[in-house]
Amino acid sequence: MGQQDAHAEPNPSEYHPAADELVERNRRVADAVKTPGMAAAPSRHVAIVTCMDARIDPLAELGLGVGEAHVMRNAGGVITDDVIRSLCISQQLLGTREVLVVHHTGCGMCGLDEAAFSKKMEDRFGEPPGWPIGSFADPADDVHAAIATLRASPFIEHDTAVRGFIYDVDTGLLNEVPSAS
Ligand SMILES: [Zn+2]
Repeated sequence: MGQQDAHAEPNPSEYHPAADELVERNRRVADAVKTPGMAAAPSRHVAIVTCMDARIDPLAELGLGVGEAHVMRNAGGVITDDVIRSLCISQQLLGTREVLVVHHTGCGMCGLDEAAFSKKMEDRFGEPPGWPIGSFADPADDVHAAIATLRASPFIEHDTAVRGFIYDVDTGLLNEVPSAS
């Protein structure tokens, strides 16, 4: 699964709504996933920022269990204002003190042509996006930028341990991005 797949055009004619089936599935798995009495605060005091990519199971890839970590996901795993909002709440109300920024191989946000995407949205919706699209050319460089953004934020605790990684969707391995010199 490479970058080309991530940029392929979707085919709406293949879709049918999933919600009813998912509610049925929930009834079958509810006993296995319920967490009565579990604390809301992550027991490992860690927050993970990663991509929404459907191939990624953040808890599974890190060997984490339910209740151990917060996971903030968006397209690309980029540090948006909303990720800062969630991390601030995670730290101030729920006691996390460590952040893992995890990009991945084959990410659709890597190499996305922002001008072309913006034009396409303007053609379809009558106006271009007013929000940053957040694509990047190099995952490691973007991990460095993400860490710098977190370090510069007045709303992230100064003593937060921040580490950056790239998850390889083909091997399942997490590779640390060396610190920017
Ligand atoms: Zn991605």
